[in-house]
Amino acid sequence: MRVTVVGTGYVGLVSGACFSEFGHHVTCVDKDPAKIDALNRGKIPIFEPGLEDLVARNVAAGRLDFAVDMAEAVADSEAVFIAVGTPSRRGDGHADLSYVRAAAAEIAAAVRGFTVVVTKSTVPVGTGLALEALLRETAPGADVEVASNPEFLREGSAIEDFMRPDRVVVGIQSDRAQAVMAGLYRPLSLNETPVLYCDRETAELIKYASNAFLATKIGFINEIADLCERVGGNVQDVARGMGLDKRIGPKFLHAGPGYGGSCFPKDTLALLRTAEQAGTPLRIVDAVVQANDTRKAAMADRIIAACGGSVAGKRIALLGLTFKPNTDDMRESPSLAIVPRLKDAGAEILAYDPEGMDEAAPLLGHALSFGADPYAVIDGADAVVILTEWNQFRALDLARVARLLRAPVMVDLRNVYGRGDEPRRHGLVYHGIGRGEHA
Ligand code: NAD
Repeated sequence: MRVTVVGTGYVGLVSGACFSEFGHHVTCVDKDPAKIDALNRGKIPIFEPGLEDLVARNVAAGRLDFAVDMAEAVADSEAVFIAVGTPSRRGDGHADLSYVRAAAAEIAAAVRGFTVVVTKSTVPVGTGLALEALLRETAPGADVEVASNPEFLREGSAIEDFMRPDRVVVGIQSDRAQAVMAGLYRPLSLNETPVLYCDRETAELIKYASNAFLATKIGFINEIADLCERVGGNVQDVARGMGLDKRIGPKFLHAGPGYGGSCFPKDTLALLRTAEQAGTPLRIVDAVVQANDTRKAAMADRIIAACGGSVAGKRIALLGLTFKPNTDDMRESPSLAIVPRLKDAGAEILAYDPEGMDEAAPLLGHALSFGADPYAVIDGADAVVILTEWNQFRALDLARVARLLRAPVMVDLRNVYGRGDEPRRHGLVYHGIGRGEHA
């Protein structure tokens, strides 16, 4: 089948490359000429494990190409995916649909023959209906239907998630649109991946409800972690004991500095705005959002407390800046809340991140300096803080860490070394998350 994907970010580029791997012919379009130039030179504008090989293989096979102008590709396509950003609208937290609308207007001008326009971007309930009206207004003669196919991939394991998803959700209004979507996902349905067909509004809501639920799990365990610190118990063991119950499950029960990233913060907010407008407040999600904001801000105070109540004139080594490992994405990362507060408190900050330093530089470069590796930033520091659980921080030589530090303080906001007493054995004063006095 012939497919166009509009937007070559984390979702668009991965989806496009994976659809071409399924055997479809895919054109990925982006309005940013620098991205398309890079892709045409075999350079991937984002860090996502495995993506470079996947793209190269499918370009070589003639199934994947890139363009700035979408007209030609859209005219030939049976399905056109919109995978552009839907950030929080400044000031009110509604999803900003301006990129989606601009893409839809351009698509409308280019469609020929029956075309399914698919929102892969996360869009509020009712957007599909509104886009269909926009398409009909812009191109009255066009034979189009808007489908909703929200994406559930995670940055860092995006290809695996796309190729082996727990489920595919497709919101459609007609049998012929369903037939197009079924053809696109045939390789997955042949592999027994559940493909859930539903109406468009249901599909749009499944995405937001799923993200809000996952954010709630994180928010919940973070508060249990706070309780452990006061009353005793180790939150990692509490989470394990809870997660072994199949009704609960072990995933998303890792206490930490609060969720960040390009999705949970903006999607929880957008869902709250939708619910408010509909007059059905979502009190649980509201509490989760507030608790998470408070938590991120409180993390710097924890670091300051671990340093004896003041970081003025002290040097802090930060390991990890991205919102999670295996990505270069800095959007809403807890580091963005923590670094300025430490800086304001008088700390000198040295940071290392395996992939995120280029993205971090324009956001945090004024407040910190970068080091070439973990030990370079730890050398002479008054405390080391693990902020993102990259694998290489799981394999630190703790004897060397203890030797290099000026003061032996380790603040581990991801509980990488939360089990056992390895840091203590090396003479480090260890501060994890959610550990009571005797735990
Ligand atoms: P991104 O910011 O990485 O990429 C968006 C791309 O769209 C950019 O390259 C931009 O230049 C391009 N673009 C914007 N307007 C365009 C237009 N009119 N024509 C062509 N290109 C255009 O975004 P992302 O992280 O890939 O997210 C895309 C959508 O997918 C969002 O709605 C997001 O909520 C959703 N989503 C993201 C993830 C994730 O992990 N990143 C997971 C699931 C869903």
